[in-house]
Amino acid sequence: MSTQQPFIYREPAPILDKENPFESMMQRFDVAAHLLNLEPGVYEYLKTPVRQIIVSIPIAMDNGEVKVFEGFRVIHNDILGPSKGGIRYAPDVSLDEMKALAAWMTWKCAIMNIPFGGAKGGVRCDPSRLSPLQLEKITRRYTSNLIDTFGPDRDVPAPDMNTNEQIMAWVMDTYSMHMRKTEPAVVTGKPLLLGGSLGRREATGRGCMISALSAMEKLGMKPKDTTVVVQGFGNVGSITAQLLREQGCRIIGVGDVSGAFYNKKGIDIEKALEWVRTNRTLAGFPGAEAIDQDALLELECDVLVPAAKEDQITHRNAGKIKAKIIVEGANGPTTAKADPILQEKGILVVPDILANAGGVTVSYFEWVQDRVGYFWSLDRVNSRLERMMKEAFHSVFVTADKYKVSLRIGAYILAIDKVARTLKLRGIYA
Ligand code: GLU
Repeated sequence: MSTQQPFIYREPAPILDKENPFESMMQRFDVAAHLLNLEPGVYEYLKTPVRQIIVSIPIAMDNGEVKVFEGFRVIHNDILGPSKGGIRYAPDVSLDEMKALAAWMTWKCAIMNIPFGGAKGGVRCDPSRLSPLQLEKITRRYTSNLIDTFGPDRDVPAPDMNTNEQIMAWVMDTYSMHMRKTEPAVVTGKPLLLGGSLGRREATGRGCMISALSAMEKLGMKPKDTTVVVQGFGNVGSITAQLLREQGCRIIGVGDVSGAFYNKKGIDIEKALEWVRTNRTLAGFPGAEAIDQDALLELECDVLVPAAKEDQITHRNAGKIKAKIIVEGANGPTTAKADPILQEKGILVVPDILANAGGVTVSYFEWVQDRVGYFWSLDRVNSRLERMMKEAFHSVFVTADKYKVSLRIGAYILAIDKVARTLKLRGIYA
């Protein structure tokens, strides 16, 4: 640290002009809980996060100044097993967002039949303004602050928005240093060299592709006659687009933070990926026409994949969406107020807690491989993922049909019922 007087800096709290994500989650939870006739005590139990931790992360910046960042970890539920969920780095990370995302992880793991509970963590920071050294310090301090929370049998983090394999490697190393032994199973989404799994990086996109194909099959749509629009060109959006293209679909629209792009004849996804590899974003991509960001979601298409962030489909634009199927690659891209509008229009929505569950499913495979110390082939990972995604899609479909509700409410019913039944068996310890 420099000799200059350090000052304390806090990232400002975010101004939330979006619908509260926890409220959005709870509105769906309430509908499902009501249909399940959940007892009031169980309702209270399942809606309340088990632990909500806020940590302060003081970091000496590269010039010696001290900045204090705020970090969060919310464990929503651990009835099914150790809690599981990503860590995100973003300027608008808030406790309410973590609570919603942690609850979604609980429901996601329950739907997928994975023996994990749900958690989510994050640090309020702008990673685009941080050097690799600052990112490493934030990650290590965040991990050491949560050293008693994390653990292969307690709480297992993973990548999420703006976090990657390198960050998971630092989490693993910090935890291992504290424990005085190498402990790969404490975190998933690691580099292969540290006990990561083949297929983990592509898993969320692959799961979205499988969900999209399952939904298309239900509506009798053939991939070669299907047009697709993907919002978000990061790990989830770009892989979904690439894999759907491989299945024969025509990707007519893509977008990222820099803008949206349209090509009626179909976008060459390999070229778009190549462009992003050299230019960081899609800005200036010559293979398509630049269009308005808002217009992307409203394009005439068969399948829309919102794979960017929360609150993209709201009561303001839901009425203008023309897709027949929406496959939610992101967590919470549709607000609760938009749900009835989409349902009214007859759009089949494959909800986030099902559509993007491929990531946590292969995280589970990674955790299993780390604990056994025996690593699977890519074929084994992908075929097991496909089987589990299809089984989960089927269960959600059957549940929705039984209760005459949307796939989203069907997914909540399936998940809440499973967690509630497990709670009944375990009983309340007092
Ligand atoms: N962050 C991912 C999600 O939201 C993956 C979580 C995990 O693998 O634990 O599903």
